[in-house]
Order: sequence, then C-alpha cells, then structure tokens
Amino acid sequence: MANLAPDRTDFYEMLVENYKTICYNINNAKVKYRKPDDNVLLMGVTKTVPPDIINASIDLGISLLGENRVQEYLSKKDFYKPAQVHMIGHLQTNKVKYIINEVSMIQSVGSEKLAGEINRLALKNNKTMDILVEINIGSELSKSGVLLEELDELIEKVSVMPAVKLRGLMTIPPVGSKEDVFEKMHGMFLEKKAKLGDSFDTLSMGMSGDYELAVKHGSTLVRLGTALYGARKYINTEEK
Ligand SMILES: *Cc1c(COP(=O)(O)O)cnc(C)c1O
Repeated sequence: MANLAPDRTDFYEMLVENYKTICYNINNAKVKYRKPDDNVLLMGVTKTVPPDIINASIDLGISLLGENRVQEYLSKKDFYKPAQVHMIGHLQTNKVKYIINEVSMIQSVGSEKLAGEINRLALKNNKTMDILVEINIGSELSKSGVLLEELDELIEKVSVMPAVKLRGLMTIPPVGSKEDVFEKMHGMFLEKKAKLGDSFDTLSMGMSGDYELAVKHGSTLVRLGTALYGARKYINTEEK
C-alpha cells in the first residue's frame, strides 16, 4: 500500500471504486463483443496526478502509466513505484533526448521528423524504441497526429528506421464520435497489421468518455485519466 497523506483516505476509496468499475466495464465489453483471450491493457493517464496517488493505483494493479508532458514526468518519475511508462502527449523533437532512456513506448508519433529524431537517439543509445503512429482521425486542426491520407507514407518512412519499432496505431477520436469512427480505426489497424505482421499489435484507442465503445471496436489499450483518478484539479498546467 502506498503511503498516502491522511487527507487522501477518501481519495483512495474513490480510486478503488473507480478501478473496480473500469475493470467491470472493460470485461463486460470484452465478453459481449470480443474473443475471450483478447488482451485489453488498462493504462493510467497520470498527467497532473501526484505520485502518492499514482503509486496507490500501481498497488491496485495498474502496471502501465501514460504521461503527456516531459517536464512534469521528469519531476515525478523518481517517486514512482515500478511501472512501465509510455509518452502519449504531443512531443517536441528537442525533448526526445530527455525520455529516450525513460519510457518504453512513444505513442504520439505523427511526423517523420519526430520519428527520425527518436531513431537517431535510439541508435546513439544502443536501443530500439517502440512507437505508435498517432492518427488524427477527425482531421481536427487542434489535434496532432498524421492525417489518414498521409498514413501510408509515414509508415513507409518509419519502416526503414532501424532503431524504431512500429507497434501500432494511436488515436484520440473527436469528442462525441459515433461507432463508425472507432470501426474505421479498427479496420485501418487490421489492414496495416495484415501487411506489417504480428508485432504490429497495439491499437491505443479509448479514453474516459468512450473506452467501452473502443473496446467493442478492437482497442488493445485504453488510456484512462478522469475515469480512474477523478477530474484533474491538482496542478493545472498545459504544455504544448
Ligand atoms: C489526457 C489524455 C487521456 C486521458 O483522458 P481522460 O479523458 O481523462 O481519460 C488519454 N490520452 C491522451 C493522449 C491524453 O492526453
């Protein structure tokens, strides 16, 4: 059990309840719509969440964390219990160097430039970095990620980078998306998987508002912040 500050007791109870509800809902969607042995990973999205609460969630069984901001992550990471961490937020090329030896996957790759820098630094550090290509499925100006029309070209470029391993696709569908958007992503994922092979195994799709729908439509990894940790209110910083 994590050492929580005394005033965190209620919060811990909420976390336990949230976690149970989420596991129940994911399992329900799986039983209804998926094969029994399909794996759906639950990621805790920890932006603005303080380390003691993150550690409490690790104690509950969350073994994968998602971080959005390099600075915030670097300031918190030494306080975490052991867990895997993926970068899921918009990442500036000049910040890759700070996380190349820290995270096990970068999910938010939407350009050749960023992929190239990850490849360069991975080579330099004698490692391979797993990545996902982020798709801007709603073609929203406010969102990062590659447009659907540009996906094939980016995949081709990334495929020849020796120190980058393309593991799948990530997306943040527009708020209020209907099922067809999720199904389109799923279809895209299966099409690419058929070409690229079984190591292309990750469809990172589904957030607090839509994770059951995402699980229904083939997601292998849901990224949950609010549904797990409650509304983000601790630190309010938006870094771009
Ligand atoms: C914040 C964030 C999430 C989690 O959002 P919630 O709606 O709070 O679950 C998931 N993915 C990305 C990329 C995020 O930035």
